[in-house]
Amino acid sequence: MSKIAEIETILIDIPFDDFYDGPRNKPRGWVQRDTLLVKVTTDDGIIGWGESFAYACRTASRAAVMDMFRPRLIGQSFDDMAALSREMQRQLHIQGRYGITIFAWSGIEMALWDVKAKREGVSLARLLGGRNRDSVPAYASLVRYGESLPVARVTETAMARGFSDVKLHEIAYDCIAAAREAGGSQLRLTTDVNCNWSLDQAHDLLPRMKALDLYWVEEPIFPPEDFRTLAALERENGVALATGENACTAFQFREIIPAVTFVQPSVTKIGGILEFMAVADATLQAGKVLMPHCPYSGPGWWASLQLAAALPHVGMLEHLFIAPKCWVGADMPLPKDGIVAIPDEPGLGFTPDPRALRDFSVQD
Ligand SMILES: [Mg+2]
Repeated sequence: MSKIAEIETILIDIPFDDFYDGPRNKPRGWVQRDTLLVKVTTDDGIIGWGESFAYACRTASRAAVMDMFRPRLIGQSFDDMAALSREMQRQLHIQGRYGITIFAWSGIEMALWDVKAKREGVSLARLLGGRNRDSVPAYASLVRYGESLPVARVTETAMARGFSDVKLHEIAYDCIAAAREAGGSQLRLTTDVNCNWSLDQAHDLLPRMKALDLYWVEEPIFPPEDFRTLAALERENGVALATGENACTAFQFREIIPAVTFVQPSVTKIGGILEFMAVADATLQAGKVLMPHCPYSGPGWWASLQLAAALPHVGMLEHLFIAPKCWVGADMPLPKDGIVAIPDEPGLGFTPDPRALRDFSVQD
């Protein structure tokens, strides 16, 4: 059986537009997107691609891949992925089973699965047990604009492109109400608060989110792992809550899944394919809804698509609604009328876009 011969990383940083060129009172906060590609080469010459979470932490994630994991993995076989994942987590638990350590492992683990499926000549979904569908719905995930006019206009733009589901990253009532007014009652609308409300604000705003008929409210309060309070907020206010992107490993999800309606594992953060699969299974058993966090355009997006093909109970995927100079992957599977066709190539189906490598790779 083959062994890991090399592990390399490539940092990509691609500028993007946000579909709004009208007047603004606030400057754009987020204008470029980082991706950390992990490239694994085996001693029999197969290349696998993975992605480790890199938003505002790209050099830290890369250092973890190269300094913490690479020396332990060169020369290792990976026939038993569950055993290898457990062993890596055990060896590195003193560096934390959350955050940078597990982000780094997520990218490597994903790349190893890419290799395994390529060796078999099948897509990852088929390797994991079956390709159960050819497409998956996606929602438009808008960046935060922080003022009502761009929120309304970009909501209209997303709907004009066929999306029936829009997620905001707005935290102010007026901005969220502006999207509802622009989209009307036929729009299914959510907002991601990214833990910005105080508990008092959550008590005040959640009933108003219910009045706006939000499908879910994501991560309303800080800290994100206050699952008991989240459960109480959902129960008391009658608004579905979503959380999970800030949790790693299936172990942490044991407390999340009972707490909220929508469960959001992120394949570049949680520990890779196997941890995601374990959370998916537990979510199904609990009768909750799986809504993966996946605003990626590298292997994390392709992996999420393969997981959605294998797991029919994955709800919608998260498509970050931006216009980048190019995507990280060649032939990026984009939503058309809110539906993404899932590739059926060997492995994840990901290959880097040569333009992304040539024009947007960075040496940090
Ligand atoms: Mg989120």
